[in-house]
Amino acid sequence: MSGLDKIKRIIVVLSGKGGVGKSTVTTQVALSLYNSGYRVGLLDVDLCGPSIPKMFGVDKNSKESVVYETPEGMTPVDVFATSSDSSRFKLMSMALLLDSENDAVIWRGPRKVAMIQRLLTGVKWGELDYLIIDTPPGTSDEHIAVMTVLKQHEHAKEFLRAILVTTPQMLSINDVRREITFCHKTAFHIIGLIENMSGYVCPHCSECTNIFAQGGGTLLAEQYSIPFLGRLPIDNRLNTILDQGITKVDNGLETISETETMKLFKNI
Ligand code: ADP
Repeated sequence: MSGLDKIKRIIVVLSGKGGVGKSTVTTQVALSLYNSGYRVGLLDVDLCGPSIPKMFGVDKNSKESVVYETPEGMTPVDVFATSSDSSRFKLMSMALLLDSENDAVIWRGPRKVAMIQRLLTGVKWGELDYLIIDTPPGTSDEHIAVMTVLKQHEHAKEFLRAILVTTPQMLSINDVRREITFCHKTAFHIIGLIENMSGYVCPHCSECTNIFAQGGGTLLAEQYSIPFLGRLPIDNRLNTILDQGITKVDNGLETISETETMKLFKNI
């Protein structure tokens, strides 16, 4: 019996580089599925830089966020437990297992692989419509471990999906090619590519300024015949809420759900 047994779909979010907004997009995909009424799990397998709990304002030292070991596996955190709609959004991350938020994980491959295996199969998710997985940038030990564990699952072909994130600059675009090759070599069906930080919409006059180069994401998607899901502008509101933690801001979930960038995920 594995924690994955009662999960209908898995979406892995990948990027070639760090800092392009992969965890932000992971959060948005998960929240938009939650807003659509699905039961969602969010797993952060970025062992060296786990940022998802912070974005949600989940503090491992608070009583509600303690992870318990039970015979059926580790208990994930129920993020919106205080809302009337609790138990529909669960979170697990390496950050919740470390003694201190600032502890560094300095592990070699085999130890990382063992931890990924534990995070993937040893969490008591219960029934989920979607498990969204945030990964580290690139294609490292963690990715190979995720792919190895998930491919062993009997329904792997039907339920493994990937979303790729890039910024518009060629440096980031070029690295995404490796992620595409990774997906092609594994069982991951690519849902599509998102171009994040694609311009800045002025909050005063609503004009969009393209800070970086333009159009790289569309070109790449055409070249590899993968769907281009859209462009996300830089959005100050999104950044401010994620910095403070969604559950720590008054009406954080409602406010973030109304941001321009969240609209893109309505049809994913
Ligand atoms: P990654 O996971 O690729 O390392 P993050 O998702 O952690 O990147 O994003 C890095 C920083 O950029 C975070 O502070 C995040 O809030 C901010 N950010 C990402 N995308 C956007 C966006 N579209 N608008 C505003 N801020 C963003």
